Amino acid sequence: MHEMGIASSVLEAVKTEMQRYPESYPCKVGLRIGEMSAFDPDALRFCFEAMIRDTDWAALELAIEFCPRRHHCHACDHEFIVRDYDFRCPQCANFAINCVSGDQLELAYLEVEEYGPGTVGAKSTQ
Ligand SMILES: [Zn+2]
Repeated sequence: MHEMGIASSVLEAVKTEMQRYPESYPCKVGLRIGEMSAFDPDALRFCFEAMIRDTDWAALELAIEFCPRRHHCHACDHEFIVRDYDFRCPQCANFAINCVSGDQLELAYLEVEEYGPGTVGAKSTQ
């Protein structure tokens, strides 16, 4: 399953990032996804939650942010958002087929919280 692979790479990225914060745990991870990426965000969320359910990170929240497809025009160096598959540059009407973003999948941000007395959700799994 495609989404399972994505969910596991997201978790891997979080783990790598968390090595910098040994006294903390992740509470929210933000993903930036191009609107052209071919997968189902609900399925991704489902896989992600299934993977963290019985771990210390069970409370980790996944936030998904969509980015529109952007093209770059060589003729006039203009960057624009593609709507309705119209690849013409709005500035000079040239066809701009150079896609600069819209199919990416990246970690946008990671929110962490420090372990401490009264910490809820962390280290509480049986
Ligand atoms: Zn142009």
